[in-house]
This record gives sequence, C-alpha cells and structure tokens, in this order.
Amino acid sequence: MTEFAEDELIFLPLGGSGEIGMNMNLYGFAGQWLLVDLGITFADSEQPGIDIITPDPTFIAERRDDLAGLIITHAHEDHLGAVAHLWPRLRCPIWATPFAAALLRNKLEEAGLLRAVTLHIIEPGDKLEIGPFGIEFIPLTHSTLEMNALAIRTKAGLVLHTGDWKLDPNPLVGPKSDEEALRRLGDEGVMALIGDSTNAMNEGTSGSELEVRDTLMKICADRTGRIAVATFASNVARIDTVAKVAAAHDRHLVLVGRSLWRIVAAARECGYLKDMAPPLKDDQGGYLPPDKVMFLCTGCQGEARAALARIASGNHRHVMFEGGDVVIFSSRVIPGNEMAISRVQNRLLWNGVEVIGEKEDGVHVSGHPCRDELAEMYRLVRPKIAVPVHGEYKHMLAHAELARSMQVPEAKVIENGQALRLSPGALDVVAEVQSGRLFVDGDVVVPANDDGVRTRRKLSFSGGGVVILVTDLEGELLADPELVLQGLATDKGATSLVDEGARVVEAALDELPKSARKNDGRMTEAARIALRRLIRDRLGKRAVIEARIIRLD
Ligand SMILES: [Zn+2]
Ligand SMILES: [Zn+2]
Repeated sequence: MTEFAEDELIFLPLGGSGEIGMNMNLYGFAGQWLLVDLGITFADSEQPGIDIITPDPTFIAERRDDLAGLIITHAHEDHLGAVAHLWPRLRCPIWATPFAAALLRNKLEEAGLLRAVTLHIIEPGDKLEIGPFGIEFIPLTHSTLEMNALAIRTKAGLVLHTGDWKLDPNPLVGPKSDEEALRRLGDEGVMALIGDSTNAMNEGTSGSELEVRDTLMKICADRTGRIAVATFASNVARIDTVAKVAAAHDRHLVLVGRSLWRIVAAARECGYLKDMAPPLKDDQGGYLPPDKVMFLCTGCQGEARAALARIASGNHRHVMFEGGDVVIFSSRVIPGNEMAISRVQNRLLWNGVEVIGEKEDGVHVSGHPCRDELAEMYRLVRPKIAVPVHGEYKHMLAHAELARSMQVPEAKVIENGQALRLSPGALDVVAEVQSGRLFVDGDVVVPANDDGVRTRRKLSFSGGGVVILVTDLEGELLADPELVLQGLATDKGATSLVDEGARVVEAALDELPKSARKNDGRMTEAARIALRRLIRDRLGKRAVIEARIIRLD
C-alpha cells in the first residue's frame, strides 16, 4: 500500500457507494487491506445478453499480496454474488457465517473453485484478527439470516461497518439485533460509522417480520381457492412464515422455483426451519385440491423466467391459477421492475386471480433501517464520523443529513473509487483509484466497455448485416455481392432488401476508379456505406454493417 502512510486508516468503496447494490468495501491500514463484501447487481435491458454486473476489482487485484482477507457480512447477492467471479483475481482467504458460507460453497463448487478457496466459518458474535484488523461480529437483524455488522479495531481507531440492517423486535428466525453490543461500542468510542442508506428517506421504522406473519395469517383464513405467495427467496423468516400459515390452515406447502429450494436446503443445513414439514415439489403439489395447497413462488419482481411469470402466462407444466385463487406479493417493487411486475399481475387478474400487492398493509416489511432506526443507531453508537454507503446518491445525502441532525460532527458522502482517510488528521479524500463495472458475459468477465458487448447492444437496437464481395485481382466482381442481413424488419420481404442491396453495392463499386478497386479497404468501405445508406432510406435504421472481400486469381 505504497500510496498511503502506514498510520493512515483508509475507507475505499469500489462498489455500493453511488451505485446501487454491488457492495465492495476496502479498509486499508499499516500496509494491508481488508475487503468487506463482494457483491453483484443485475443488468437491465441496456445490456443485452448480460445478466450480472460486478465491481471492477483492478485496484486491489494489483495489490493482492497486501489483501489480508475478505469478510462477507451476509448472504445477499449484492454482498457475496461476485465472489465466484472475482476470487481468481484476489486469491485471499474468506470469512463468512454458516448460512452465507453454505450458499457461497454452492457457487464456488459450480465455478470449480471450492478446493482452491480457504473459507473460514464465523459464528455470530465471534472475534478474530485479520492482519492489522481486529474484527468483532455484531449480529443485526435483516431480511436474511446471520447478518453481522463488523466492529473493526485498528491502532488508528474503531470503525463500525453496519452492513445491511434493521431493528426488528421480532425477527422470527435468528436473534434480535444486539443493541447492547452497539451501546458498548459507543461507550468505547467509535471513530466512524460506515452504514446502510437504503431507506434513509423513509419515515418511521421498517416494521417486523411478526407483523407480516399476523397479516398473512388473517389474509389466508377461510379461503377455499389456491393461495400463492411470491417473495425474495433469501428471506428465510418469510419462508418460515408461509410454512406456518400453510400448516395453520391445513395446507401443504409447495415450493416453486429453484432458488427457493437452494435457500431452504442451506437454511436447514445450518439448523433453521427444523419444524417445517417437508415442502412438496410442483409436480406433486400442482394437482392437490385448491384448498389444500399453499404455493411459495420465485418471481416477485416479475422476472420472465421465474416461476410466477410462467404460471401467470399458463406456461408452467404443473401449476395453474384461476378464479377463486389469490396471489400475494410479499415483497417490495424494486425500482426498474414496475413494468415487469405489472405484466405478471395483469395476466393473473385476467385469469380471475385475486392479487394482493405491497400497497396492502403488512404483507411485506423492508430489511433496511428507516429514519427512526437510523436515529437509534446513532444514539447507541455516537460516532465522530458518518459515511453513508449502500443506496442511491439521494439516499446517501439524506443519510448524511440525518447523521448531522443526530450530532455526528462529520458526515461525508463519497463515490466508488474515492479513498477516504478516516484518521489521522482531517477527514479527507486522499486518492482516487480505478473503479467501475465489469460484465459477466457467459463464462467470462469483461470490462463494461468491451467491444463485443458494445456491438451486441448496437445490433440489438439496429440490426446488422454482412456483405461479401468475390472479385478477381483487378476488383471485378466474379459474382453478385452476397448479403446476410440479421435483425432487420422485412415486412416488404427480406429478399427484396437483399436483392436491392446487392444492386446498390454493385453500383457503388462501379463508381470506384480502377486503382481503388485494387484496394481492399476502399472496396469494402464503398460496399458498407452503400448498404448502410439503403437500409437507412428503406427502414430508418442505422444498421451495423460489415463488408469482406475475397480476391481470386
Ligand atoms: Zn445489500
Ligand atoms: Zn442485504
């Protein structure tokens, strides 16, 4: 860590600050780095063919000899999803709680990395030393199991990295937030709190899993049709609630969707959900009488390939919903997914299915702290510095303002790639390092500006084609230009555009002087421009066109 002085304590987010999701946080001290979380975010239709986006790890990959380890705060994809993709560039030991480790092990195994990675299991409340960092794990409630904040002790001071958290008085599965430990840290003296901003603009508290359970119990009483609940697969308390609601109403629980099975298996492996009756598969549960089943489905965000969308559109092999059935969206609408969710809900409504969404009171609670919980955190911890992370820019600004209103002397919002010196001396951004996004494209991880991905995006907007010219050495065509057009609307008939294309290309080549016809570049460029212009005139599209020439003796 040559750029920084040995006594400087640095916080450097490479993901999760200013860019929603994808948490990747570095702490630097005494020549070593500690990495906290390594998550992904999901791509949208702007990146055709790309499902997963990771942070750019170049900065720390180039210094991996100084990387003491990676700690995973909890099992959400935006905190551990990138490990299997990026670990080969980092090659450091990993610490995770049993539940996160169980899910991580699946991913590492799929990537063929399980034997290469040293994965240490931490128990909630553990303490350990990693390089110059003393780590204490503080259990906090969240929308998945075993979320731990990190109290990071160095000779330069104590930092609390909150991770994702809330103060749920009744989390149902797992312990309550350890508020005593937070107060104890406050008494010890916390230099900086690095914390979750997701709900910093929401008044009040996030609510409890217990309220959701009570509400679902009521909604599901006295129903005679099928009941289905769609939720985030990683919310084990919610899965437990649906199982208990099913049992209370004498219904069999049916899981539909692979990620639910994966989460349930990992949770049971770690000792959770032990009193849950073994759930049924869709090929068993799909044929039971409507008043004897309760479905738990993936796809609460309207994902086209997930269980709920397939059921709603009548494309599921074993499960169908009809008039008299109800589907409960026990989830929030993640911004950007409104249209996809509406599409699924409209299909269900069209089939006569009742839909209960997030606007109905109490079918979902968030896993992130609202303003009252943030205020309580600051009352307990009393840090000198607050650094909002994990949220959009507006959420981080609102978080900073709230921290100041809670008498935190300094609150600073930074961007990914900015190295913030927490100590000694003034709080200051002391360096800017490479940061950004990488795309997981099939089996490879490529920079966001990769040529192949850029061309694919252009093709997906505009279509494209290839012209092949076969000529003699003088550049005289030996055959009609061969055209291959792809992804272009052809309601007037593809053949006519292809035929016309061949003619305009031929005409364009005819206009070239003899000398130019001996030049491959002049020939292909003339053909390319002619075809491109024709497609623009005929279809109004700026197609991606390539031309090739083959010269025969
Ligand atoms: Zn998160
Ligand atoms: Zn989370």
